[in-house]
Order: sequence, then structure tokens, then C-alpha cells
Amino acid sequence: MKLDLEAMRAAPGRPFAVSGEEDIPTLDWRGESLLVEGAVHADAVAFYQEERVVLRVRVQGRVHRPCSRCLVDLVEPVNYEDSLEVMPDELVGSYLELRPMIEAGMRIGLSLKPLCRPDCRGLCPTCGADLNREGHRPGCGTKETRDPRLAKLKELL
Ligand SMILES: [Zn+2]
Ligand SMILES: [Zn+2]
Repeated sequence: MKLDLEAMRAAPGRPFAVSGEEDIPTLDWRGESLLVEGAVHADAVAFYQEERVVLRVRVQGRVHRPCSRCLVDLVEPVNYEDSLEVMPDELVGSYLELRPMIEAGMRIGLSLKPLCRPDCRGLCPTCGADLNREGHRPGCGTKETRDPRLAKLKELL
């Protein structure tokens, strides 16, 4: 998605709007490569002023993530809006490419600890059992989540 810089320079202060789909198959995020489901929808409104572009970008997309407790794959909807200024030294050529801003918006819109469901019970830190689907494995000393030893372990983690 691009903004026509020449047209914007010719009409300072006038808002220009673009919208469309951006194809971003994967998103690099904190060392992970996250799959994006479908295209990312983006729209932007911008104007040119004092050799800068003042911009508002909104992104909407769906991103595959591992649940932060049980690691199951989930699809997180991202809906993020940001306002920014693009400085003169970044405004070269006749177009302003918005893809980097769209990718950045998708990254910022991700939650830090995604959950497959609000009450996900996660993996037992002692025996590794997926507590959403099974009980503790034989030999696991953890009887319930309020076990003081588990609380101690959680503190250490
Ligand atoms: Zn989960
Ligand atoms: Zn266990």
C-alpha cells in the first residue's frame, strides 16, 4: 500500500486516504515467525505538512500464536491504530510505502500473553501434562494448583 507523495506535496494540509489488503505471510516477533491468516486489512489517512507526512494507520488481521500457557495454536485477532509522523529524510521518491508501518502496527497490536481461552489451565510445570485435557501423570506430586510446592516453583519460574 502506497501514498502518492507527489500529489501530497502539491496539496499541503489536504488529507489523502488509502485502504486495501496487504499480503504479509509471516510476522517476525521476538525471535518467532508468526503465520498470518489471510491478508492484513489496512487503511491510512495522511497529509503533508512542513516537509513531513502526518499519518494515521489502522490495521486488522489474524495471527497464529502459541497459547502462552498450553502452547496450543490459536488465532489472535489484531486491531490496532497508530498515529505517526514521517520525517523529511524518509520521504524520498514519489511514493511512501506503508508496508513497514502496517507490519509494525500488527506487531504492536499483538498481546504479550495470548491465551487459547481465558481459563486455560496450561501445562503442569512438574509433569508436563496438558491440564486442559488430562490429569497429572503418575508420579507427579502436584495435586492441585494451590499446592505450595507449585506456588514455590512458579515463583522461581
Ligand atoms: Zn491454552
Ligand atoms: Zn503434574
